[in-house]
Amino acid sequence: MADISCQLLVIGAGPGGYVCAIRAGQLGLDTVIVDDRKPGGTCLNIGCIPSKALIHAADEYFAMREAAARRAIPGLTAGEPDLDWSAVVGWKDGIVNRLNNGVTSLLKKARVKLVDGRAQFLDGKTVLVTSETGTQRITARNIVIATGSEPVELPALPFGGKVISSEGALSLTAPPKRLAVVGGGYIGVELGTAFAKAGSQVTIVEAAEEILPLYDGDLVKPVRARLAELGVEVLTGAKAHGLAGEGGDLLVEATEGGERRISADHVLVTVGRRPLTEGWGREELVLDMDGQFLRVDDTCATAMRGVYAIGDVTGEPMLAHRAMAQGEMVAEIVAGKRRRFDPRAIPAICFTDPEIVSVGLSPASAKAVGIDIVTGRFPFQANGRAMTLGRDDGFVRVVARAGDHLVLGVQAVGAGIAELSAAFTLAIEMGACLEDVAGTIHAHPTQGEAFLEAAMLGLGQGLHL
Ligand code: FAD
Ligand code: NAD
Repeated sequence: MADISCQLLVIGAGPGGYVCAIRAGQLGLDTVIVDDRKPGGTCLNIGCIPSKALIHAADEYFAMREAAARRAIPGLTAGEPDLDWSAVVGWKDGIVNRLNNGVTSLLKKARVKLVDGRAQFLDGKTVLVTSETGTQRITARNIVIATGSEPVELPALPFGGKVISSEGALSLTAPPKRLAVVGGGYIGVELGTAFAKAGSQVTIVEAAEEILPLYDGDLVKPVRARLAELGVEVLTGAKAHGLAGEGGDLLVEATEGGERRISADHVLVTVGRRPLTEGWGREELVLDMDGQFLRVDDTCATAMRGVYAIGDVTGEPMLAHRAMAQGEMVAEIVAGKRRRFDPRAIPAICFTDPEIVSVGLSPASAKAVGIDIVTGRFPFQANGRAMTLGRDDGFVRVVARAGDHLVLGVQAVGAGIAELSAAFTLAIEMGACLEDVAGTIHAHPTQGEAFLEAAMLGLGQGLHL
């Protein structure tokens, strides 16, 4: 295949890489993007999108079963629903496909050349791309490494047979009768909840003292309560150390209760993801590392001139929206604009039941850096909209600097509250004070009013509590 030369080459078409390429193309840069997977990366193909589709389908099925069991709104009943999980997975694949095509046409519209294949650096300006149809040499003035991350494999539980990664869990043709989940973090609790709603008997094995250890205990409590309602067994302070023979029970050592054997049809291992820093010729470059990640500065520049890195390969939080924001910024920098990656806050959402949102500083993290704070916490039990939705568990909590009431953080837990993350993040990014939030008219009846009320409570002026 003929050699190509371009102004910008992006390696990896995940949310970081494809957003970078689209923006670069829009800015008139001659841009090439390489991936051997359909555009969209982990997030679109085997991550954010397919997982949220299955979580939603499981929610719907569960709601129908609740109605059939007359546990829904009094007077609301339904027949026992059917679940054809392989059709649900087909529906999910259809959504992924539509989005793959969407990204492909956005790249085309921005006049970005999409090359199918695996990229390998020859030097800081040259990459060899290999695909089934041959190899191609690409030279570029600037290169963006957006290779993303991959699941961590436990040596005692290598993927294969009944031991699956999140990618395998998203393609099962039926919910396993019994599912053991090793790792009670984002993926384990999100997918564990979905499979429990779809009818699996789920056990979550978490090494830390609590599931979702990234979030504070108050936020996790309603999620724990819901897992208990769903019949999910949660073992904390527990480590899985292998299978009893090939395909046998999962062996777990728990702080409380000692050795346990868990029989399961599938063992889903979700103990974190690691950046993909090998397999693309890093040894041909002179890049600094930051632990397991590629070190970048606040313009996402690496130690080599003209070589940038974005997304999961560059550090925490390994989230799609961080990758996208970095990608957009790097395209603008390469096009000659002055930009820095300096967000006040990056929202984190756990799509559990109820959902958790955390933006900015928690009370503990503010205190840890010596900031005097005031907080306001408004429970959904006092929110009319939450009651009309049949779910009033959870709360919104606002953290503000004591001296000037600058909003430093907002955390919330509640059914379907992921969408509130936009309001929380905007308030922090715009430098809002409690008075600004309290002075903003929030529509009634909405769950968003809990944000207004939490801010009012922070000012000592709570109205509805
Ligand atoms: P990736 O999306 O990993 O893309 C990297 C791309 O690079 C891949 O397509 C890969 O094929 C390609 N590549 C790698 N090496 C080469 C090479 N040598 N040559 C060519 N191409 C190469 N994040 C959220 O924000 N919200 C969520 O709800 C969420 N849910 C998730 C659910 C699951 C089950 C998983 C696994 C992840 C989830 N994430 C979520 C995390 C999110 O997927 C990642 O943060 C995001 O995809 C990172 O984007 P990226 O562009 O850095 O890398
Ligand atoms: P995670 O880091 O969220 O959770 C891993 C969990 O496994 C931790 O709680 C850890 O204590 C536990 N653990 C580690 N080793 C263990 C062992 N041997 N036995 C038992 N438990 C063990 O990782 P993840 O759930 O695999 O997700 C990976 C990343 O993907 C996340 O960190 C996040 O960046 C991203 N993600 C985000 C979302 C979202 O934004 N909603 C959803 C899914 C994934």
